[in-house]
Amino acid sequence: MYPDLKLFIDGKWRKSDTDIPVINPATEESIGHLPCASTNDLDDALEAAVKGFEIWQRTSPRERANTILRAASLMRKRQDDIAQSITQEHGKPLKQSKSEVIRGAEFFEWDAGEAMRTYGRVIPAAPGHKYSVHHQPIGVVAAFSPWNFPMSQPARKIAGALASGCSIILKAAEETPAGAIHIAKAFEDAGLPDGVLNLVFGRPPEISNYLIPKEPIRLVAFTGSTSVGRELSTLASQNMTRSLMELGGHAPVIICEDTDVTKSAILSANRKIRNSGQVCTSPTRFFVHEKIFDDYSKAFVKYINSIVVGNGLDPDVDMGPTANSRRISSLSGLVEDAINNGAIVATGGNKIDIKGYFFQPTVLLNVPKNSRIMSEEPFGPIAVINAVKSLDDAIEKANSVPYGLAGYAFTNRADYIDQLIDRVEVGNLSINTLEASMPETPFGGVKSSGHGREGGLEGLQNYMSIKNVWHSAKIS
Ligand code: NAD
Repeated sequence: MYPDLKLFIDGKWRKSDTDIPVINPATEESIGHLPCASTNDLDDALEAAVKGFEIWQRTSPRERANTILRAASLMRKRQDDIAQSITQEHGKPLKQSKSEVIRGAEFFEWDAGEAMRTYGRVIPAAPGHKYSVHHQPIGVVAAFSPWNFPMSQPARKIAGALASGCSIILKAAEETPAGAIHIAKAFEDAGLPDGVLNLVFGRPPEISNYLIPKEPIRLVAFTGSTSVGRELSTLASQNMTRSLMELGGHAPVIICEDTDVTKSAILSANRKIRNSGQVCTSPTRFFVHEKIFDDYSKAFVKYINSIVVGNGLDPDVDMGPTANSRRISSLSGLVEDAINNGAIVATGGNKIDIKGYFFQPTVLLNVPKNSRIMSEEPFGPIAVINAVKSLDDAIEKANSVPYGLAGYAFTNRADYIDQLIDRVEVGNLSINTLEASMPETPFGGVKSSGHGREGGLEGLQNYMSIKNVWHSAKIS
């Protein structure tokens, strides 16, 4: 069922002379060989994208929307095959892969609707004059998507570009290429003109360093770590190329004393292990009021201890492996450092001693602020639970990292909610829920978590430029 891995350039699938293996993280076995694009392939992709943009920007918004909807409908029909491939290459449980496929289709469906609503405006002017503002597709997009959501991460970028009338060259993640390949297939079958969507793989720095400075590239869209985001936005800025950066997070969860302790602990623990914690919005730093700290930690640890870890293809599994061996060494290092600083390991803390990149779901208690995990995103199944004295104390600690992507709180007190909305430094704040992102809401960060938004009314703005028109009825 795993797809044949190929590049997609100018509407054709192609192989290359060099390739890299794709590894199943649950078994450490190779499941395919991914072709690496040469500079000739990248030049062909650039030429195709320029040609594709000419065609697509002149295609009516309704026709663009209809093509995107046809492709999304094919993704829904093919959801079982796509989900199976995602679990094989990423490791997540099959039901999470299925909901990711549906979420990917929803991103396309939302942006298809928005394609017909990129309204400009008319500004009142003197008689004989008209001022109008027009939103126009920015041009060719170079996009880079990560491995944690093989389907929905590429979907966000392709949907934004295509709905706006842009063409796109996407370098999807080499470790998890199948989602993007399935998307490209769906668009091929839906009748997207050649060159509008191009998909490449290879060595990430070689591709980004080659593509980003090229003249036709008008937007660089990236999701990944803050350090790589900084490099790519610096490179883009040398040509004054716009960038959309969705970067790391280190989400705080503020648990106030009035909340339902058991319900909020179970919900949070369940959310923590989703995607093995490899989510930029994953709840990680829990600041719990001291009055309920013991009860909350116990309920959280009890739920974590009931989690079944294993191969995501097994229907009884709650949490799969981490996606690659880098995660294991990084998570082990963070736990060791926290222990050396005096943290208590309530459960987990180690690699699971079987084949595959499995790490135990882990809860650390009373972690001192100088521990690396208090400022470095773990990107794995580790939760830190610390006691706080008050809401002020919790907000100060929540804001004490350079990141500002998602933040969560559990409370029903109106005065607390008011404070949380005003003072927590994040792009997405969720109260009494751990959902952070929907197709119809704008998603993105503040501080080192990036700039620009994906989704919502705001999502297409990154992919469009504004033209002001002044029309005078007579030469004046
Ligand atoms: P990494 O920083 O090497 O890579 C992160 C992503 O960027 C990968 O998909 C990689 O292919 C891509 N990348 C790396 N260098 C690139 C370059 N020069 N040009 C273009 N793309 C490039 O780290 P990693 O080990 O793959 O992932 C670990 C860290 O990345 C995590 O700690 C997390 O902070 C971050 N991450 C964030 C997200 C997110 O959704 N925001 C997703 C995946 C990874």
